[in-house]
Amino acid sequence: MTSFALKSFTGLRHSSPETPHFSFRPKPITLRRKFNVIAGISSPKIDGRNLRVAVIGGGPAGGAAAETLAKGGIETFLIERKMDNCKPCGGAIPLCMVGEFDLPLDIIDRRVTKMKMISPSNVAVDIGRTLKPHEYIGMVRREVLDAYLRERAKENGANIINGLFLKMDIPKEKNAPYVLHYSSYDGKTGGVGEKCRMEVDAVIGADGANSRVAKSIDAGDYEYAIAFQERIKIPDDKMVYYEDLAEMYVGDDVSPDFYGWVFPKCDHVAVGTGTVTHKGDIKKFQLATRKRAEDKILGGKIIRVEAHPIPEHPRPRRLSGRVALVGDAAGYVTKCSGEGIYFAAKSGRMCAEAIVQGSQNGKRMVEEGDLRKYLEKWDKTYWPTYKVLDILQKVFYRSNPAREAFVEMCADEYVQKMTFDSYLYKTVVPGNPLEDIKLAINTIGSLVRANALRREMDKLNV
Ligand SMILES: Cc1cc2nc3c(=O)[nH]c(=O)nc-3n(C[C@H](O)[C@H](O)[C@H](O)COP(=O)(O)OP(=O)(O)OC[C@H]3O[C@@H](n4cnc5c(N)ncnc54)[C@H](O)[C@@H]3O)c2cc1C
Repeated sequence: MTSFALKSFTGLRHSSPETPHFSFRPKPITLRRKFNVIAGISSPKIDGRNLRVAVIGGGPAGGAAAETLAKGGIETFLIERKMDNCKPCGGAIPLCMVGEFDLPLDIIDRRVTKMKMISPSNVAVDIGRTLKPHEYIGMVRREVLDAYLRERAKENGANIINGLFLKMDIPKEKNAPYVLHYSSYDGKTGGVGEKCRMEVDAVIGADGANSRVAKSIDAGDYEYAIAFQERIKIPDDKMVYYEDLAEMYVGDDVSPDFYGWVFPKCDHVAVGTGTVTHKGDIKKFQLATRKRAEDKILGGKIIRVEAHPIPEHPRPRRLSGRVALVGDAAGYVTKCSGEGIYFAAKSGRMCAEAIVQGSQNGKRMVEEGDLRKYLEKWDKTYWPTYKVLDILQKVFYRSNPAREAFVEMCADEYVQKMTFDSYLYKTVVPGNPLEDIKLAINTIGSLVRANALRREMDKLNV
């Protein structure tokens, strides 16, 4: 237990490399490098046209991928089944996403600078005190963000198709095309659409948690959480409280393994929760989350109810031939925070960059080795982040006393700075050794108190 606690915080720095928990295990680097160089040289030049790539799904992963491909000289087709898709989502994005993806400020509904972490016994700790004046968590509506990214891909030359991807025929010969089958809606609403087919040289599967592309390449399943969310329109005077504030509730009542949230949107709040272990009880947890926030959302009217799976870890396979998975289709949501928007956009972009580079801006055919570069870069860059959040979830979300300890720790300014910096900038933030030691001692203290408390509670239950 103690070593767990220590590790979780020294882990916020670049800790010594361990075997990634991803089921995909990279081959030794030297062999890979050699293979990639040979693949780049040996891939044939394409005559009379550029490389054709289909992106399936127009969420953040698909939009970002399509934009990068089109800018890089690839003939790009993005297939999205629902142009006004309103993805069930809290819509919280880190500050670095705004800069890295050059997002205009008018698509961000709210700038959250205060976060309340609320313990099982309703002790509330304000986090965010260490934020600098320009720092915030962005709150977006997904229908707005996704449409914006798709539109930008289109402006850069991507062909956007309103269609439902059905299946693909995998080529048996090297360099032969993938044949995609889809129903084209072409702006029409309702009906079954027109059956169409398309030949492409490579495919990016950005079609979310229930990915058909993943099924087509036999990518295997992942464990998932079910997340439930209600959009609630609350009276204007109540909305003032949530103007720049979000809440996170922890406790067995709201979720046995995750947290409940109240996130502010443009003119309403999103109240939700999630669980992996007790999916059948999700409505009970949702009710409890609403109950905990009762005073602050009193008089509210539910305007939308939504639920969706959240992947718990990457799929066993994220690449096959010239087909790669990105975003939720690959399984890139972090534990503990349940964050996936930034990682979706980032993986879409990274995969597209690997294709642009491997094809020399669309002039050459790509091979599996070219797409594999994206996976190697991804795992190297983000493995520590996933690992730290995985450990944090295991240590602090496992019982009410542990959650009380977690909230208590969140009062510490150093913890706040480390966690906010890691969240906002997506880097594993270097710590201050003295503060680390102080924190480790406090962490142990909190957990010892939590355990003593748990033993007392266990006794009461006997
Ligand atoms: C309730 C809830 C709350 C969440 N809150 C947050 C949060 O606050 N912050 C955060 O960072 N993450 C959050 N997440 C996670 C986040 O929503 C996902 O990680 C993110 O949407 C992944 O983006 P994506 O582009 O990979 O997939 P998606 O956003 O799922 O996009 C997939 C797209 O593909 C399309 N599609 C699917 N199948 C087909 C097909 N066959 N043919 C054509 N198109 C298809 C869909 O219509 C969709 O537009 C939350 C998730 C849930 C469920």
